[in-house]
Amino acid sequence: MLRRATKIVATLGPASSEVAMLEEMIIAGVNVVRLNFSHGKAQDHIDRAAAVREAARRAGREVAIMADLQGPKIRVGKFAEGKVELVPGASFVLDASRTELGDIGGVGLDYKELPRDVKPGDLLLLNDGLIVLAVDAVRGEQVHTTVHLGGELSNNKGINKKGGGLTAPALTAKDMDDIKTAMSFQADYVAVSFPKNATDMEMARQLCHVAAAGLNHRPSLIAKIERAEAIPRLEEILRASDGIMVARGDLAVEVGNAVVPALQKKMIRMARDMDKVVITATQMMESMITNPVPTRAEVSDVANAVLDGTDAVMLSAETAAGRFPLQTVQEMATICTAAEAAEDVQLDADFSGRTFSSIDQSIAMGALFTAHHLGAKAIVAMTDSGATALWMSRHRIHIPIYALTPKVATQRRMALFRNVRPLLMDTSADRDTALEQAERHLKERGIVQRGDVYAITCGEPMGAPGGTNMLKICRVP
Ligand code: ATP
Ligand code: MG
Ligand code: MG
Repeated sequence: MLRRATKIVATLGPASSEVAMLEEMIIAGVNVVRLNFSHGKAQDHIDRAAAVREAARRAGREVAIMADLQGPKIRVGKFAEGKVELVPGASFVLDASRTELGDIGGVGLDYKELPRDVKPGDLLLLNDGLIVLAVDAVRGEQVHTTVHLGGELSNNKGINKKGGGLTAPALTAKDMDDIKTAMSFQADYVAVSFPKNATDMEMARQLCHVAAAGLNHRPSLIAKIERAEAIPRLEEILRASDGIMVARGDLAVEVGNAVVPALQKKMIRMARDMDKVVITATQMMESMITNPVPTRAEVSDVANAVLDGTDAVMLSAETAAGRFPLQTVQEMATICTAAEAAEDVQLDADFSGRTFSSIDQSIAMGALFTAHHLGAKAIVAMTDSGATALWMSRHRIHIPIYALTPKVATQRRMALFRNVRPLLMDTSADRDTALEQAERHLKERGIVQRGDVYAITCGEPMGAPGGTNMLKICRVP
């Protein structure tokens, strides 16, 4: 199988909940699964998380679980038939007081404040902008609209106001409950929806820590960049997070479609420069929800995200509710591999003008530099927290980074890092034994063979986090 550096995040849903299906998806290339707390009940997510761990065990690979919080997103309620077909010119009522299920004439809302936030003339964009409703009047709890752009509207689709400006705090009461649920199965990543600033991220982290207090578990936090207000504050949001998601659906509605591609490039560059991870999301293989092959435009979109330097590309409804979840993952993996082959390695340029002031980070950079110039077969990082592997993976290099860790939580978290292959290895032995063990590991897996050169980093004494202080260049005897 071809080596792939870019990781794949797959959203789970009705089309991808069975252990057998999940196992196939993991084998096809899924590195991270996303549980979207906007859909389904707590128990559904708990069951899916258990199915994922079981499937990963069967596939013999660790994957990370990302819990994606709903946030203050405004959504329509459910329909009696699950969906309706809206036609242009028809009237449609969004009704905060409606208790019965929706139909062709209207639907309920989970966000009760919508009637206060809109006025006649506003345009409401539903389902990432695929459906457009024009507000005619607000009467009490009801927002009366005319369909401008029609199409299928199904349960719990999101609503945005064109130009942004719908109020609501970043973490809702539901999010706080969902954080507890996510911590109960030790989600590796928690994605926060609609953060406006660093405070929103700090608050989410605090809540995760409280919820996971007894578990000795520390999830990584991903900020979903999808509000206009977040753009001027990217740097502070990045500083308060472990990574970001370029959440192009809501972002495009707020800032306008046309500026999103440039923002994507900027966000990916900033995240990597600040030693953070980045996921590119929304509609990447959208047509594969119903078709067995992607469009040319989708192929280019995925490839360009890879060339921009994203850690991961994400699938939403394609794997959650699509007809071809497995084929979509396979197709996406193929596109990533081909794009990577065309990518430029610019390590020397990347390093020039930079200083690395800590010992561990300097060792990590030294390993990259040396491996690159020697044409090494592999770079090996013995890592406790995953930090060494993260630093190494922030630079474009075509040599795979194998991260050996004694901690399964670190192994799972590293599943998202570009070009990092996480492996579990007990590193508690003395240094020489651990180095021997590492080489045996690499040989057994066929990663290196006799005569190959590889670079390996570790810390002395072994097993102390943040202690990486040694670089060794080895030739396999
Ligand atoms: P977000 O704005 O957070 O991306 P979304 O509604 O767009 O929310 P996605 O996770 O992007 O949701 O997934 C796309 C679609 O897949 C959803 O709108 C929904 O129809 C379906 N889906 C996703 N997860 C589930 C689930 N757990 N149960 C049922 N359907 C799901
Ligand atoms: Mg969203
Ligand atoms: Mg979406």
